[in-house]
Amino acid sequence: MEEKQSFLKQKIDLESPNKNIVPITTSIKGDGKLSVGGCSIEELVKKYDSPLYILDEFTLRKSCEAYKKALEKYYPGESLPIYASKANSSIFMSSLISSEGFGLDAVSEGELLTALKGGVPNEKIVFHGNNKSDKEIEFAVRNNIKVIVDNDHDLERLEELSNSLNRDLEIMIRFTPGIECHTHEYIRTGSFDSKFGFGIEYLNILFANIRDTKHLKLTGIHAHIGSQIFELDPHNDLGEIMVNVILEAKKFGHNINELNVGGGLGIKYTESDDPPSIDEWVKTISNSVVKACEKNNLDFPTLMCEPGRSIVSTAGITIYKIGAFKEIPGIRTYLSVDGGMSDNPRPITYQSNYSACLVNNPLNNNSHNKYTIAGKHCESGDVLFKEIDLAECKTGDLICVFGTGAYNNSMSSNYNRIPRPAALLVCDGEAEIIQKRESPSDLLKYDVLPNRFIRQN
Ligand SMILES: *Cc1c(COP(=O)(O)O)cnc(C)c1O
Repeated sequence: MEEKQSFLKQKIDLESPNKNIVPITTSIKGDGKLSVGGCSIEELVKKYDSPLYILDEFTLRKSCEAYKKALEKYYPGESLPIYASKANSSIFMSSLISSEGFGLDAVSEGELLTALKGGVPNEKIVFHGNNKSDKEIEFAVRNNIKVIVDNDHDLERLEELSNSLNRDLEIMIRFTPGIECHTHEYIRTGSFDSKFGFGIEYLNILFANIRDTKHLKLTGIHAHIGSQIFELDPHNDLGEIMVNVILEAKKFGHNINELNVGGGLGIKYTESDDPPSIDEWVKTISNSVVKACEKNNLDFPTLMCEPGRSIVSTAGITIYKIGAFKEIPGIRTYLSVDGGMSDNPRPITYQSNYSACLVNNPLNNNSHNKYTIAGKHCESGDVLFKEIDLAECKTGDLICVFGTGAYNNSMSSNYNRIPRPAALLVCDGEAEIIQKRESPSDLLKYDVLPNRFIRQN
């Protein structure tokens, strides 16, 4: 029988990490075991326990670099790449992306605070959200962070705030461009039926309303059409639609000089995924904006984009330890690991697929078995892999799941009162903690027993 070649043998794309399944620094050492960032994964688990999130700094920086290089190459005007922090929000990530000169997109006071703590300059932060609280809006305004107005409720409160402070406020608006793309329904945001942003047909009323305020200055427009997108056409269309919106706004006296196209570039989770490169994505969007500007004799606005997944997903892996096996003859063999839907809710939420291997036999040598990898939570749906081809393995062996840098840690929960894993940063053979492991007693911190329930002993 011909051996299927492992995804670990595929050539690594050094320029566009989103086209790889594994972090760029992934290697198999002389002992046949997996390492990343120059660190033996087995050794890391010995020291830091499992489950364990690991981020590879080299891959993170390569992804940032790819966006910066491509913007410089294809866009003749000013540009600013902005990291969508919901993909993986931490003081470390804020610090890393600000060291790369990126801005940051936040959708809550928590994400804003994390960005500021990580040293992201406030003028490079944008504040999104379809239901910002009064407190959050005030926090953003007080910190000179630009608010992206999502609806009339935002607009009313910003108008009040600017009047009471007697101060001009620059704002951006988010609209839905009416572009369909092929991705999961829950992460599709650009079509007309979306909870986010103003309908494009409403913009003229909105432009008039903003013009009639005393202190609000409309400086930018934003649209985001969805996530994990493999097609280039939607973003090609978006450039022209947005330039037309800028021209329309001009008629109301608004000089818009910021054009923010959102994020959405997909990554390669499995061998059948074939996303465009970062270079191709930026080229498509840049060219469409440039073409539309030239056609209409418009100065190039500052081009902003908001990648999340394609910055951090491929840089991240999760390591689990195998515990129980359950063989159901003729049906399947369940192999259970020490994490699951609490550290990675994507499979149960979006039926997402991943790639994985054994840490001590990454190339799947010798006999093969089909396994179903289950998490340890009390849900039958808590399954990370429905059917995966792995070499013979046993309790105590380690499994590495790839592509978990985005929307894993940031979407994690304490379901079943399971503490969140530690997160490590690896680089040049060194590993450092960027998130401490929670302990079960940490989880009791916010529990309060009413006085009359306290037993007097
Ligand atoms: C989620 C989101 C992004 C990032 O999307 P990715 O698919 O992770 O690149 C960018 N902008 C907005 C407004 C978003 O909601």
